[in-house]
Amino acid sequence: MPEPLEPASPAASAAPADAQADRAFMRLALDQAHNAWLLGEVPVGAVIVRDGKVLATGYNRPIGDSDPTAHAEIVALRQAASLLGNYRLPGCTLYVTLEPCAMCAMALMHARVQRVVFGTRDPKTGAAGSVLNLFEEPRLNHHAELLGGVEAEACASLLQDFFRSRRAATRAAQAASEPAPAPHSGGIDVDHLDEPGAEFDT
Ligand SMILES: [Zn+2]
Repeated sequence: MPEPLEPASPAASAAPADAQADRAFMRLALDQAHNAWLLGEVPVGAVIVRDGKVLATGYNRPIGDSDPTAHAEIVALRQAASLLGNYRLPGCTLYVTLEPCAMCAMALMHARVQRVVFGTRDPKTGAAGSVLNLFEEPRLNHHAELLGGVEAEACASLLQDFFRSRRAATRAAQAASEPAPAPHSGGIDVDHLDEPGAEFDT
């Protein structure tokens, strides 16, 4: 009889908690985040790994997709689930450059993702310890392993650079088209305040 394709034990299929591998996969998530930037989206990227191999990738794309749920994690989850033909993803690790929000945290738990590794914290909407911690909420019945702070500086810098660049572009456009700024704007761009990573726009 042939061996079954899927290992019987979740532990046997889990990606090893190896710090070097975690950094390498986070750099791939950063590549995905750059893709988001190229399309004018807040740069957050994700990859899903199983058995040491990348299964799916995703980057933040709510504007382009006209989809408020199109965060990097959700995009990657949908791709992985579609590929496997399974709405659950046991034995998978998801890497994401920014701490997951509540929506993504719950989606990761619904998918039974085994391990979640994130880069930098999100003090405004982070649901992995910053605002709340859904991953350690005892009233929820699934708890993914959680690790934060992997390549945190690079993940945060990318977001800061993005918002800096966007502010500069906005100023340049205003200078080209208007003799003076709008009187009550206060210089504050509120368009993105509910976007992931918005707190990096400082
Ligand atoms: Zn999210």
